[in-house]
Amino acid sequence: MQIFSDPELLQSYITDQRIQGKIIGLVPTMGALHEGHSRLVIESMKSNDITVCSIYVNPTQFNDQQDLVKYPRNLNKDLEMLKELGCQAVFCPTDKVMYPTEPVLKMDFGQLEHLLEGHHRPGHFKGVALVVSKLFHLVQPDKAYFGEKDWQQLIVIKKLVEDLSFPVEIVGVPIAREPDGLALSSRNLRLRQQERAVANQLFIALQLVKAALEEKSSFESAISTGLDHLAQFSLIRVEYLEIVTAFTLEKPSAEMGSEPLSICIAAFLGDIRLIDNLQVFMNNVI
Ligand code: AMP
Repeated sequence: MQIFSDPELLQSYITDQRIQGKIIGLVPTMGALHEGHSRLVIESMKSNDITVCSIYVNPTQFNDQQDLVKYPRNLNKDLEMLKELGCQAVFCPTDKVMYPTEPVLKMDFGQLEHLLEGHHRPGHFKGVALVVSKLFHLVQPDKAYFGEKDWQQLIVIKKLVEDLSFPVEIVGVPIAREPDGLALSSRNLRLRQQERAVANQLFIALQLVKAALEEKSSFESAISTGLDHLAQFSLIRVEYLEIVTAFTLEKPSAEMGSEPLSICIAAFLGDIRLIDNLQVFMNNVI
């Protein structure tokens, strides 16, 4: 496995691979890798000759400095895992090479910035889009893999690719979960034992909302079902629980046809913020 921290060395490796006609897949991550990340790497390895996994805790996407400082980092273990998976290349740059000076470019995703994660983490998607654009330029992937766990991020990245005509196919990968339903996340490592014990209730709440929708409850009453359930757990502080249209993330209306929906949640357990989502297909509902 080739490991690069210098973008120039990475680029000359990529140029070599391209000359040999190799198809390149990119898996952008912030490290502290788990099974969710390996699914992305495995997906990429299935349909590309070369998979490049980037590991970079991108400071510009953190609106909370404490979250950035405390973000788990475990490069050696990550490299071992990627090597075992058979990943061909890893890019783990430093802040200095990614941002030699303070960036001034600010991409604006319009309405997408004002709802769900965009609303609660101001500037987050500007930072994500900036770093992903840099990675696309450096790696020039044919395909790039993103988890459905960060559903809104996936939508934002698709818009980024469309608006800037990046010649990259974006592939979404389903959420990997613990046996009790908790969505895998690097942040789970920071949960205390009693927080971990109730963390799967987020997924249970999503399932309750989905079941309520399938039983033809109104959107409001389906959300109340989920919130009432979570209210039993004093360690869980819900930031939002919302039903939105799956691809435009708008508020759905009762008259809508068969558009898929997404139920999205963000909640704090102590100072750890977790997100999750569940898709619902309207033909099951109306
Ligand atoms: P992160 O390292 O948290 O920035 O995640 C890197 C990529 O892995 C993102 O595209 C995430 O959506 C994806 N990812 C993280 N957790 C999961 C999961 N449990 N299932 C599927 N994909 C995930």
